[in-house]
Amino acid sequence: MKKDIHPEIQDCKVTCACGNTFTCKSTKPEISVEICSECHPFYTGKQSRSSRAGRVDKFNKKYGFDKEKAAE
Ligand SMILES: [Zn+2]
Repeated sequence: MKKDIHPEIQDCKVTCACGNTFTCKSTKPEISVEICSECHPFYTGKQSRSSRAGRVDKFNKKYGFDKEKAAE
């Protein structure tokens, strides 16, 4: 490697918005992220924002096409 052109690699403390922290190597001493492997739905297996309804859900709600009503 050439000298004096590479940034220094150091231990980096990563802080997630969910409160999880872990360390890795980076050129920065600290990094804050919004999502990590502890809180991402792909890893947790559950939907984190169930309140955010999709367009189809909104349509069904608007016109009363609920699942409960359809079953009746
Ligand atoms: Zn997280």
